[in-house]
Amino acid sequence: MRDDRHDVIVIGAGLAGTSAACALAADGYRVAILDTHAVYPHDFRAEKLGETQMVQFDGLGLGPQARAVATAVDTVWIARFQRLLTRVPAREYGLHYADLVNGLRTALPESTPLTIGRVAEIETGPDLQHVVLSDGRRLEARLVVLTTGLGDVLRRKVGIAKRVFSAKHSVSLGFDLAAPVPAFPFPSLTLYGDAFGSRIAYVTLFPIGGTMRGNLFVYHDPADPWVKAFRADPEGGLRAALPGLARYCPDLTVAGPVEMRPVDLVQAEDYRRDGVVLLGDSFLSPCPIPGTGIGKVLTDVERFRLHLPHWLATPGMGADKIGAFYDDPVKTASDTQCIRASLYARALAVQNGPTWTMRRWRNFAGRHVLHAVHRLEGRRASPAHPDTAEPSAKSA
Ligand SMILES: Cc1cc2nc3c(=O)[nH]c(=O)nc-3n(C[C@H](O)[C@H](O)[C@H](O)COP(=O)(O)OP(=O)(O)OC[C@H]3O[C@@H](n4cnc5c(N)ncnc54)[C@H](O)[C@@H]3O)c2cc1C
Repeated sequence: MRDDRHDVIVIGAGLAGTSAACALAADGYRVAILDTHAVYPHDFRAEKLGETQMVQFDGLGLGPQARAVATAVDTVWIARFQRLLTRVPAREYGLHYADLVNGLRTALPESTPLTIGRVAEIETGPDLQHVVLSDGRRLEARLVVLTTGLGDVLRRKVGIAKRVFSAKHSVSLGFDLAAPVPAFPFPSLTLYGDAFGSRIAYVTLFPIGGTMRGNLFVYHDPADPWVKAFRADPEGGLRAALPGLARYCPDLTVAGPVEMRPVDLVQAEDYRRDGVVLLGDSFLSPCPIPGTGIGKVLTDVERFRLHLPHWLATPGMGADKIGAFYDDPVKTASDTQCIRASLYARALAVQNGPTWTMRRWRNFAGRHVLHAVHRLEGRRASPAHPDTAEPSAKSA
């Protein structure tokens, strides 16, 4: 076999690409992985994982790398309407996204080093795929895996369009609190927006190392003056938007700048193509508010890993083969749940009318009962963003 020919070329070494390359290399495939950055740069992205996602990392053989960069807590306080609802015994992990991706990259074996470069061209077809880097290097493989996240250039080059199905869906704000972690009475706190119409989903405070980190999720337009005002005076913004917060954190001084990420919900279209498959956010980018993004990325990787051996066992790499991944019932259920949770959580926070008012109260009352049952049973629950789930969806 030629030296530059691989079974799979993975383009994009973020969460999806790195996890996929590690798993496929462990399965014995010849894998190339490419990224523009030798070290994943700081990026305000997912900063909290639940135990379910950690178990997924374990299944991919990446649990030790993920745990090594995470700060674990075993109890989460949940508050709403200015009062503590419950203290849920649940394991959560705080981390910086760049540390997670760089940590996972250390698991790439010697046989699968990260190739640094920008992909300039991709030629795909039913048998062999060709990738050309901007410095002229060429690689060949039976399959290209596109894990370029929100980057759109390569997706378009292979003829795949995108559909923005909820523009300006939400805004995520990230900040460090100045007080040291021991100054806070809770291990981790999630406090929901009180007032309907305030467009505040919730704030969550959790430790990353010795720093108490805050993520505030809102349904404001990114250009709304509220967002600008919050970034200029985050302490005042927190006190005004979430009056109950000061009860649990008298010192709300924010250290350093507030990071901001506007979120559109985007899904790929016309994606059934010869020789190329999309995983992670390059296929579907959800809203961070329900906290389903990482689970969805890892589900993509798990299901893709199951399909690949069948594809490689027979000649060709046509769109019909690859379709089995997009039709996989576990993957489609994961995507559907992500989309529904993203849309439902927003509607619950901003929609008017008796139906949504009733749903809000039903959700609130239902959660009260659920938390009371958990307290009585002493059960471990996964509180990752529980109040945003549809009543029928499996969440807590
Ligand atoms: C603010 C925010 C908060 C979030 N919070 C949560 C949360 O709490 N819980 C949760 O589960 N999910 C959360 N998410 C979602 C989660 O972060 C994403 O689903 C996940 O990071 C997607 O990973 P990915 O590998 O698909 O993309 P990425 O990690 O973006 O990786 C893309 C990679 O492709 C590379 N690349 C791009 N173009 C090229 C090219 N031409 N050539 C070579 N390489 C290229 C990039 O350098 C990058 O390394 C959040 C998202 C945001 C924006």
